Amino acid sequence: MEYIVSKFGGWANASSDNVKRAADLFQSNPQRRIKIDSAVGKVDGLPKVTDLLVEGAEIALKSGTFPDEIFNKIKLNHYFVFKPLGVTEKKIDEVLSILSIHISKKDQLSPDHFRALIIGSGEELFARLDAFYLSEIRGLKAQFVDPKDIGHYLSGHPLNGRITHEAYENLAKLKDSDYIVVYPGFYGVDTSDKPMIYSRGGTDKTAADIAKAVNATMYENWKDVDGIYSADPRIISNPELMNEVTYKEIRELSYISFNVLHQEAMLPVMHANIPINIKNLHKPDSKGTLIVNDREINPKRPVIGIAGLKGLCSINLEKCLMNEEVGFSDKVLSLFRENRISIEQITTGIDSIGLLVKDSEFDEKSVHIGVSESLRKPIDKDEFCHFLKKQLHADKVQIRTDRTVICIVGEGMRNHIGTLSKISKVLSDARINIEIIDQGPSERNIIIGIKDDSEGSVSKKAVQLIYNEFFS
Ligand code: ASP
Repeated sequence: MEYIVSKFGGWANASSDNVKRAADLFQSNPQRRIKIDSAVGKVDGLPKVTDLLVEGAEIALKSGTFPDEIFNKIKLNHYFVFKPLGVTEKKIDEVLSILSIHISKKDQLSPDHFRALIIGSGEELFARLDAFYLSEIRGLKAQFVDPKDIGHYLSGHPLNGRITHEAYENLAKLKDSDYIVVYPGFYGVDTSDKPMIYSRGGTDKTAADIAKAVNATMYENWKDVDGIYSADPRIISNPELMNEVTYKEIRELSYISFNVLHQEAMLPVMHANIPINIKNLHKPDSKGTLIVNDREINPKRPVIGIAGLKGLCSINLEKCLMNEEVGFSDKVLSLFRENRISIEQITTGIDSIGLLVKDSEFDEKSVHIGVSESLRKPIDKDEFCHFLKKQLHADKVQIRTDRTVICIVGEGMRNHIGTLSKISKVLSDARINIEIIDQGPSERNIIIGIKDDSEGSVSKKAVQLIYNEFFS
């Protein structure tokens, strides 16, 4: 029998209609067995519940009190979604009292464990109310399951937890339930029952981990779009929808800019060979996009998607006889690592190294989990280049801003002659200079680095030209 795990994100959980639609899906297909819920997303005029909780937790840690104003907004969010579905204010207030209990634990927990408890509670509140709606109002055999009770153990930093082996064993028991399991995403506990969360957007990961644990036949991820498009619809009007795409192709595209699902959420299901179906909640009968390990390649269509990433700078280091200095690259990389600057792309010449870095890497890293306070300050780019020059005894260190990378992806590019020549031809016809070019050894991706302008119009044109070359 099919066993489907279905995930509903903040958007899907921000309107009564959508929550009702989700219930219809469970009513119409008994193979949907586990519903993974995010917290209420943005509702009319109010921020996302998780964002409100983040703000409230910070204020509570600083001033000692969780602000009533934030609590009331959270209440309004839940009234907005659940009252039209027939859930009474009394029931909603009763469930929300759990948040007050969590808040009262502030002095018993470390600041980060307290943050995890509060920030993750949006999922708990939603899933408890959802389970009530599904069972008491819709008459479905549905039951809330608390990650704390089942042993959803996460390890690591309390705000960036990773699933443990033991958790998979515990989560496998969900399969035995006779009920539709209504399960809150995003949070778990450590093995001493202290609150933990995955990183932001982590409900995708909860769903992937559960799909793996119960060996689901399918992981459905319900969205407000028809599936995954071959290019950004803000750049290409009516881009082609992908029917099937491989995990690896999506990894390449998401790494650059495609916002499909949490980057790490793909790994557990990919290893377990469980397909992910991205579907539109408003068109449940359309197929959506299927993410799979292998797909059939159409030789006439080597490319499946094109992504662009703006806001990069390239740092070029030159040093004569660099090639003879053993450990030079290691030294370069460790200087970036020590400063917590992550590198997107590296290209090398005999006496030079070019590194592409996101501008945002130089910003204050206040939201970076695990970065110590002393490193949470902005870094001046020019000063950093002087520092590199000095530390590496380099001849020249140059920084160039407004760089964009365009990534062209497709399993069909492997052994396909002429893809790169087509790309370079359309760009050269348009007088767009290619500064960086890189093809991964898998031949699944080609990355082009170009000089953009501050509006991003050069890269927009480049994406349109490449898209037309391969798709029209
Ligand atoms: N509610 C959490 C967030 O906003 C987790 C999620 O929605 O996936 O990050």
